[in-house]
Amino acid sequence: MYLSPDLETLPQRCVSYVVAHEFAHVALGHFGQDFRYADTSWVDRHDERPEEVAADNLVCAWGYSSEDNPVHIDAEVRRLEAEAEDLRIAKEVEAEQQRSVDEWNRRHSV
Ligand SMILES: [Zn+2]
Repeated sequence: MYLSPDLETLPQRCVSYVVAHEFAHVALGHFGQDFRYADTSWVDRHDERPEEVAADNLVCAWGYSSEDNPVHIDAEVRRLEAEAEDLRIAKEVEAEQQRSVDEWNRRHSV
């Protein structure tokens, strides 16, 4: 079982979830050569892997909350960042339109 040092950057509730998730893999027999994929991006494709979904389901059956799954927290952060970027662009466009109106008014005022 491998636990990333990056875990230390997460809230304790997420660390507890991840450790329980790794034990769930062991309980489900997900270990050995067939279950090594440290070379792939586990966050992006996590929910597509049946063994990850099974481990998450078992963790939730043990009483942990899927809200503490850092995979979902990361997805939520990415969604919020995308929303913030959309808002920033919308404000930029609005400011540019206002500058054009101000410029037009300045040129056409007496
Ligand atoms: Zn896993």
